[in-house]
Amino acid sequence: MNNQKYDVVVIGGGATGAGIALDATLRGFRCLLVEKNDFAEGTSSRSTKLVHGGVRYLEAAVKHLDKSQFDLVKEGLKERYRILKNAPHLAHSITLVTPLYKWYEIPYIYAGLAMYDLISGKRRLGKSQIVGKDEIMKIFPSVKKEGLKGGVRYYDGAFNDARMALALLQSAQEKGCEVRNYSEVVNFGYENGKISTVEIEDKISNARYEVQADFVVNATGAFCDAIRKIDDKEARDIVEPSSGIHIVLDKKFLPNSEGLMIPKTEDGRVLFMLPWMGKCLVGTTDEESSPQEHPKVSDNDIEYLLRHMRKYFSIDISKNDILSSWAGLRPLVSLKHTDDTKGLVREHYIEQSKSNLVSIAGGKWTSYRKMAEDTVDLLVEFSSGKNLHNCSTKDYKLFGSETDTVTIKEKLDRLKLEKELSEHLIKTYGTKALVVMDFIKEYGDDKIHKNYPVSKAEIYYALKYEFVKKPLDFLVRRIGLGLIDTDAAKESLFAVSSVLQKSFGWSDEVCKSINDEALLLLESGV
Ligand SMILES: Cc1cc2nc3c(=O)[nH]c(=O)nc-3n(C[C@H](O)[C@H](O)[C@H](O)COP(=O)(O)OP(=O)(O)OC[C@H]3O[C@@H](n4cnc5c(N)ncnc54)[C@H](O)[C@@H]3O)c2cc1C
Repeated sequence: MNNQKYDVVVIGGGATGAGIALDATLRGFRCLLVEKNDFAEGTSSRSTKLVHGGVRYLEAAVKHLDKSQFDLVKEGLKERYRILKNAPHLAHSITLVTPLYKWYEIPYIYAGLAMYDLISGKRRLGKSQIVGKDEIMKIFPSVKKEGLKGGVRYYDGAFNDARMALALLQSAQEKGCEVRNYSEVVNFGYENGKISTVEIEDKISNARYEVQADFVVNATGAFCDAIRKIDDKEARDIVEPSSGIHIVLDKKFLPNSEGLMIPKTEDGRVLFMLPWMGKCLVGTTDEESSPQEHPKVSDNDIEYLLRHMRKYFSIDISKNDILSSWAGLRPLVSLKHTDDTKGLVREHYIEQSKSNLVSIAGGKWTSYRKMAEDTVDLLVEFSSGKNLHNCSTKDYKLFGSETDTVTIKEKLDRLKLEKELSEHLIKTYGTKALVVMDFIKEYGDDKIHKNYPVSKAEIYYALKYEFVKKPLDFLVRRIGLGLIDTDAAKESLFAVSSVLQKSFGWSDEVCKSINDEALLLLESGV
C-alpha cells in the first residue's frame, strides 16, 4: 500500500467523509477514504435517526425574522426528500405527534408545522393535522390524560444512520474508491509548503505506510481540530463538540407506529420518542463536551430523559427499563476563536489551510450530500486540466437501492420466509437481500439470538461485503443489535467472534482480548 497515489484522501468514515468519498469518486477523482475505527463508529451511528429540515430552526427563523435559518430548513427539506428517494430501504417517512396541554399551543404549533409543509412544497411527505385528545390517547395509551387538550401530527423522515454510511461507502467502492476502516491518519508530509503525503497507521497490524495525495479532506467530525493541528500547530479551534445521549426502551412505551415530539423541554430543546427497530428510542440531550471516542452516558443525562418521560407519561419508568443507551458528539462549528464570520450563517463550514488541507465541520446527517457537494466543488475549482464530471449525487441510487425492492420482496415471499425475517432482510440489505439469502442457504438459518431474526449466515455476508473486522462492527453498526438491546448483543458476542476468529485466524488469546474489549464497550454504552 506504501506510496500509492490518489487525487483525494478523505479522513473520516462518518456521514460527511462517506458522502465526500462518493461525490468525489463519481466526479472522476481517484479517491481513498480512511477511518481510524469502524465506519460510522463516531457520531454517525449515534444520531436520533431523523431525516429532517429542522422544525427548531423554523421557529428561530420566524421569531427572529432570520432568512438564513429559513434557507437552512428549506435546504434540509430538499435533502430529506433525496435521502428517502435514493435509499428507500434505509429511510422512510414517519409521523410524529405532539401532545399539547395548553389551548393556545395548538394553533401555534399547527401554524409552524403547516409552514414546514409549505416549505417542503412538492417534496412534502404528508399534511400536518390537528389531532383530538381521544385520538392521542388511542395512539399513546399511557400519555398523561390530565389537562391534555389535543395535539398536532406532522411528517418527517427516519433512517438507519450506520447502514446509510455503509451504503455510501459501498456505492463509492463500487465506482472505484478505496475505503479502509481501522486506518488512522497520524501525520502529513509536505512539498513546497503543500501537503503531498499522508501517513496512515493500520490499527489492526500497527504497520505505518504513506500515500501520496493531491488533496486531503479532513472530515473527522468532533476530531476536526486535532487533524487541523497536525497540519498547523497554531490553528485555532473551530469545533465545539456537544454531546447528546439516547436511551432505548421496550416497544410497550410506544406501541404504535407513530413517534412523539415534545417541542420544549425544561432547557428549551426538542425531545423525541420514536419507534425504531421494534423498540422505542428516546433522545436527546445537549451538553458541552470535548472530542473523545465512545463518549460516556452520564447518570444526569439519563435522569433528564427519564424526568421528561415521567412528565408526559403516567406509567412507571425507571433506569431498569433501559435496554441500551449511547452518547454521540455533535461537531458544532464555532468561529469565535477565528476572525472569520461569514461561515456563521451556515450550519456547516469549509476551510482550506495554507498547505491545502480542506476541513469540513458542522452540519447534520440530513445535509451530508450538500456538504459533500460543497466540499468537492472546492476540489474541482483547484483541479483545472482534469476531466471531471458535474455533481451527480442528487439522483444517485445508493447501494441496496438500485432497483425497486418490491420485486425483491416478491421473490422473498416466494421463498415463504417468516414475515419478520423477510422484513429484516429488506430493511437491512434492500436489493442485496437475495444475495444474503444465498448465504443463508449455504451457512444455514441459525439465529445469533433467539429474540431477533438475524442469522449467523449474515456474519459471513458482512465479512465478505461489509468491511467487518471486529465483532461490534457487526453487532452494533451492521445489524444495530448493540444499539437496541445491550444484553442480547452481549449474549450474541461469542457466536459472532467465533466466526471472525476462524476467518481471521485469531489465536484464542487474541479472540479473548477482542471479546473483553467488546464487552467493556457494550457495558459502558457502546
Ligand atoms: C445526539 C445526536 C443526535 C443527532 N441527531 C440527528 C438527526 O436526527 N438527524 C440528523 O440529520 N443529524 C443528527 N445529528 C447530527 C449528525 O449525527 C452529525 O452531524 C453527523 O453524524 C456527523 O458526521 P461526521 O462524519 O461529520 O462525524 P463522525 O460521524 O463523528 O465521523 C468522523 C469520523 O472521523 C474519524 N476520525 C477521527 N480522527 C481520525 C483520524 N486521525 N484518522 C482517521 N479517521 C479519523 C472518527 O473516528 C469518526 O468516525 C445528531 C447528532 C448527535 C450528537
